[in-house]
Amino acid sequence: MLAAEVAALTKSGQVVWVEKDAGLRAFCVDEDYRASGAEIRSRNEILKEADILLGIHGDCLSAAKNKTFIGVYSPLYHLEEIDGWAQQGNTVFSLDLLPRTTRAQSMDVLSSQASIAGYKAALMAACTYARYFPMMMTAAGSIAPAKVLIIGAGVAGLQAVATCRKLGSVVEVFDTRPAAKEEVLSLGAKFVEVEGAADASKAGGYAVDQSAEFKERQKQRIAESIKKADIVITTAQIFGKKAPVVITKEMITTMRAGSLIIDLAAATGGNTEVTKDNAEVVAGNVTIIGNSNLAAAMPSDASKLYGRNVLNFLKLLISKDGSLELNLADDIISSACVIKGEEVISPIVKKNMVHGNVTQLHPEQY
Ligand code: NAD
Repeated sequence: MLAAEVAALTKSGQVVWVEKDAGLRAFCVDEDYRASGAEIRSRNEILKEADILLGIHGDCLSAAKNKTFIGVYSPLYHLEEIDGWAQQGNTVFSLDLLPRTTRAQSMDVLSSQASIAGYKAALMAACTYARYFPMMMTAAGSIAPAKVLIIGAGVAGLQAVATCRKLGSVVEVFDTRPAAKEEVLSLGAKFVEVEGAADASKAGGYAVDQSAEFKERQKQRIAESIKKADIVITTAQIFGKKAPVVITKEMITTMRAGSLIIDLAAATGGNTEVTKDNAEVVAGNVTIIGNSNLAAAMPSDASKLYGRNVLNFLKLLISKDGSLELNLADDIISSACVIKGEEVISPIVKKNMVHGNVTQLHPEQY
């Protein structure tokens, strides 16, 4: 949270403590927080004495007792740790579980961070690729525009489409949700339809796992497109599950020398057979960059948007007299609440704890 969001809290009468140097990477120094009415304290002091703890990742969840935590704890990727969190008596809200509804839009941390990641992925591709993105007409001859293939047209994918189009490249897009088609076309890109995708209408806007036949058909279509692509940006995710592998090693061997794949789904297993999270892999003459944390490459705006999301969520929890009020009849509050009173109350987390159908991946990311 940056100083402006802290000021909104202090103005409404809340006492705000900020950990020393918490905003340094986002260019918000302790003096800025003090000017917005906050006090600077040590992490230990905050963990011991604050009532509500705002953060991002879950490294402090086991270090404090009887607090209210708000962050992005990705519980579906941390199932084996949840009983430990519950034993601390903390109430835990994880904002990645918010419903993707109009009312929850101003709190939607997945969207605010994915939008930055998609934008950065396009810029990273343009900077790393050894050729032009736009068509260039020069006295020495013309250069054709780069061909970009984007797999997954959710928030990150659409932002990557928009940015790649602004940079002058030709863009082709795959998604399993038919609703994505219109958005892709409106950005001036081509949407490649693959027949027979599973109905995702009851999955809260998210994609669902596909049949073996569909996966095979989709692979054939992607194989045709990838041969012609210079850049591939993959963002395909299935909420709470391992990412689908949509690009095989064999497909990569058909790509033009110097081509580039940026895999934003790396932390949940990756969309290619060769992706390694937080690493660059060279396969033949193709480079595959696995990075699901590109929002962190734009720390100032990422923190600003994240802070606003958290502030908007907090407004639902804090009553007019300034006290904490958990109205679990509100679908936004109940969806985000993982643990209350030492009990895991999130239905989706409980279901996954019983069935254990989530692959545990990359704990440093989630
Ligand atoms: P996500 O990160 O979960 O997935 C990224 C994209 O990958 C999705 O578009 C998904 O359909 C696609 N995908 C999954 N498997 C695929 C496969 N095998 N091949 C190709 N593509 C595949 O998505 P997200 O960006 O978090 O968005 C999730 C949904 O929420 C979207 O429907 C989005 O429109 C919706 N949304 C709604 C709101 C709102 O109304 N408030 C806000 C943000 C997002």
